[in-house]
Amino acid sequence: MQTKYIIVTGGVLSGLGKGIASASIGKLLSQYKVVPMKLDGYLNVDPGTMNPIEHGEVFVLDDGGEVDMDFGHYERFLNVQCKFAWNLTMGKVFHAIREKERRGDFLGQTVQYIPHVTKYIRQKILDTAETEQAEVMLIEVGGTVGDMENELYIEACRQLKKTVGPENVLYVHLTYIPILDAVGEQKSKPTQQTVNLLRERGITPDIIIGRCKKLIDEKLKKKIARFCDVEAEAVITSLDVDSVYKVPFVFAREGLTEIMSRKLNMPITPSLEKWEALLEHVPEKTVDLAICGKYTALEDSYASVVEAIKHAAAHVQTNVKIHWVETTDIEEGKPVAEALKGMNGVIVPGGFGSRGIEGKIKVVQHCRENNIPYLGLCYGMQLAVIEFARNVCGMTGANSSEVNPDTAYPVVDLLPEQRDVTEKGATMRLGGHDILVTEGTKAHEMFGDVARLRFRHRYEINPEYIEEIAAKGLVFSGKNKDARIMQMIELPGHPYFMATQSHPELTSGLDEPAPFFHEFLKAAKAHKG
Ligand code: GLN
Repeated sequence: MQTKYIIVTGGVLSGLGKGIASASIGKLLSQYKVVPMKLDGYLNVDPGTMNPIEHGEVFVLDDGGEVDMDFGHYERFLNVQCKFAWNLTMGKVFHAIREKERRGDFLGQTVQYIPHVTKYIRQKILDTAETEQAEVMLIEVGGTVGDMENELYIEACRQLKKTVGPENVLYVHLTYIPILDAVGEQKSKPTQQTVNLLRERGITPDIIIGRCKKLIDEKLKKKIARFCDVEAEAVITSLDVDSVYKVPFVFAREGLTEIMSRKLNMPITPSLEKWEALLEHVPEKTVDLAICGKYTALEDSYASVVEAIKHAAAHVQTNVKIHWVETTDIEEGKPVAEALKGMNGVIVPGGFGSRGIEGKIKVVQHCRENNIPYLGLCYGMQLAVIEFARNVCGMTGANSSEVNPDTAYPVVDLLPEQRDVTEKGATMRLGGHDILVTEGTKAHEMFGDVARLRFRHRYEINPEYIEEIAAKGLVFSGKNKDARIMQMIELPGHPYFMATQSHPELTSGLDEPAPFFHEFLKAAKAHKG
């Protein structure tokens, strides 16, 4: 089949949900092999070196790539395992161009943004389509039209239409339809203006998706159609909904399937039944969960953790209320029992550095001693081991050498292969690894003999202390293939006390929630009583 290219751009504002919109378009096309790409404008090679508070979570792929958090949406919606190469950044692009220039690939030429850089971008898209045998390339251009840093991507996407033929390209533009409080009227002006910006760049959108609190009324659709040179049926609402998994349903109801099918000249039969059944459940009760950390100010820093909770909730049939607990408050004297009052389950997610650590350790202790379901993710496992070492094994002052290099008991220590690492970019232990799960453990009930999980860390449980800690009753239930790095722990006799060095939230989906979250939520529901 001739590959079709769907280009998704955004206008007016950031944060309109372009990643979800792209993923939802892909979900409607699930009968085809859809390959998502994201084109980011920043000069970092990857987001691994960025602050998650500013940029959102760093998503880690099975191949070890650190990529934009939109890849989380793509994997959750499209059922594909994405690759690092599918996330272009201007950092990557310029790095490659510079290498080519030094090698002499452009000998005799003046290397320019146009044609050289745009050709490189276009070629990357075409090459990906070919290597992956994509039936549909779903290309999301980061940022909003008019941002300087995305101009080259937009130009490359404009050129693409000539290269592959207009019948194979669909331009989708996501905009914002405000409703003015005073008059309660939906306004189209920002959409007209952003579409003008796009048209100045030689792209006329085929489909306009307007993010709005209410369905865009027919009159306004006609007006947008007239001003923006699209068909009225091609103006689609992206309605505010309480769950991102409902967005494909909204798009389908708004007629996006038909318009895409007609414009790309291919049959589209979305299969949404499974999600429909899962989203329709009537929850029996609401469970209160705490996520404890230092990035709690911004949900986006823990986007996949939140999604994994939602996946489990749909299967366990419960509502979940998430409470963000700032662990520095506990350090500064807030009693932990007060901070966790009424919680049916507690998560300590991944993190770095020493801020809030003592607070997190108190949180773990409180959960262990009071039979509150506890799930530790990455740092959350290391801190659980530190807590156990201090309070059960009597290793006073036990710590991670990340926090205190002079501790008498470095129960968490740098991975040996990290000792000589000096550069910060893409140098952690990254990506998917097979974990061997110990028979007779709860983890074994959940995973069987082998679990494939994803990682992003530099430190590990120090092998020198494992025997002593295990003798006091903490079970190390999953090890790396070479049996050295400890990947999972659990505490027998506790309703749910489990932690992993991995990030199970990265491989959770609505169809199949991550077992760590699924079992955790069952325990939290039981805790609710
Ligand atoms: N800071 C810890 C480490 O590097 C944990 C990392 C994480 O939680 N992702 O090992």
